[in-house]
Amino acid sequence: MKLEALVVLSALLVGANAHGNHHKIARNLGARDGSSSSTLSSTATSSAGSSAASSGASSSGSAPPTSASGSGAAPTVTTIPIPSNLPSPPPGIPPLQSISSGMPTGTTAMVPATFTAGATPSFAGAPPLPTPFIFVQGQWPTMDVPPPTNSTQVQEWMKELEGVDIPDLQPTQDGDCSLDPAFAADAKNRGWWTCGGWTAPTDIVACPDKMTWGVSFDDGPSQYTQTLLNYLDEKDLQATFFVVGSRVIERPAVLIEEYMKGHEISVHTWSHHPLTSLTNEQIVAELGWTREAIKRVLGVTPTTMRPPYGDIDNRVRAISLAMGLTPIIWTATPSGQKFDTNDWRVAGGQMNAIQQFESFEQILGNATIINTGFIVLEHDLFEITVDLAVGFTLNAAMTHNPPFTLKPIGQCMNIPTTDMYMETTTNQTYKAQRAAALAHENQTAASSNPSGASTANSASPATFSLFTAAGALAAGFAMLF
Ligand SMILES: [Zn+2]
Repeated sequence: MKLEALVVLSALLVGANAHGNHHKIARNLGARDGSSSSTLSSTATSSAGSSAASSGASSSGSAPPTSASGSGAAPTVTTIPIPSNLPSPPPGIPPLQSISSGMPTGTTAMVPATFTAGATPSFAGAPPLPTPFIFVQGQWPTMDVPPPTNSTQVQEWMKELEGVDIPDLQPTQDGDCSLDPAFAADAKNRGWWTCGGWTAPTDIVACPDKMTWGVSFDDGPSQYTQTLLNYLDEKDLQATFFVVGSRVIERPAVLIEEYMKGHEISVHTWSHHPLTSLTNEQIVAELGWTREAIKRVLGVTPTTMRPPYGDIDNRVRAISLAMGLTPIIWTATPSGQKFDTNDWRVAGGQMNAIQQFESFEQILGNATIINTGFIVLEHDLFEITVDLAVGFTLNAAMTHNPPFTLKPIGQCMNIPTTDMYMETTTNQTYKAQRAAALAHENQTAASSNPSGASTANSASPATFSLFTAAGALAAGFAMLF
């Protein structure tokens, strides 16, 4: 690696540990995950934001981008030489040096839509695909904004929190460390990942087996997801997709392709807001509506979730677990370097593709020296992020010497696929949890219709151990960092 690149890379890694004030820029561009740590941007006002219009993040644009002055070293994009050994991309993917936020738009792959109602998923006990989803206005909350909390649905889902000890933590200001200095100083006690990378034993943060990459893609389904799916199919790879509810009802056919091709589906909220900034009711609404959209399209309900931007604290954790959703974040080294492909930074014009690829190679280097496998942040929302995945990052891991094993996160955690969904899990904790929720629903129905009350006479919901649910999921996994 050339010296300049090394200098830039070390600056990148320094930046990755600092807490700059740039994340709103990236959020406005649509894919801020992990970006609260960004100090890199000097070109962040790129026009790439226009392509992010469909992103859940567009609604948070009310907060104006902050200035690009950073607390860390700010490498200059133009000083990086083009390495002579850049990998050649497959047909249809531009060369690495051509991938930039201003690049022309390529063609999008057609969604085959071969799976119809009644088709059977590949894992044991999975219910057949339901009747095709038809979007009906008024049946769903407005896309890309936190759903209202006074609906009957949200009030019903709130009952899943009864009997669960939800920490009384005041919501943050936009999940932002710099806007919440007092909370940031108390991040360890709050279990706040955003400011310092604090996790809980219930979080899934790394695959247990060394040299194993738990592959995931966030923020879709998008119009570019099918290109990624075709590539994964060709390479016989599966991944975990953390889907946004607003995108699910927009592109149900793509979600079906993901699921029926053996990829794992997980909840990534309705509007992609930082969850620590929301009230308990709003968090329930974000998770509940996404769960509902996935269930309506696929007939199953995920048992896992990923907080947008990794923005989770003990309150968000408790609510997620109470709703039967185990949090999955991404790996960090003991020194705090996060396993973020930085693909969103290329889409946002904050980093060029060569820098991005070199930072990813650094991740693979880190991955060879840690004692566990790892989970990496990557996106299928933008054409650029899909190009980077299909053209470069996945291939780099597969052709690495020694090679990495690529698996969906549930599989790398040795979680049976059946346990990735409420309807098929044999995990007794989840069953108790779900039964408690259903008992509530029945009770409500019964009280509004006394003549049918005979089946729901439980006076109080079955309680369950909050930290057993995920503990069982993560059994056998040694938490090293
Ligand atoms: Zn996201």
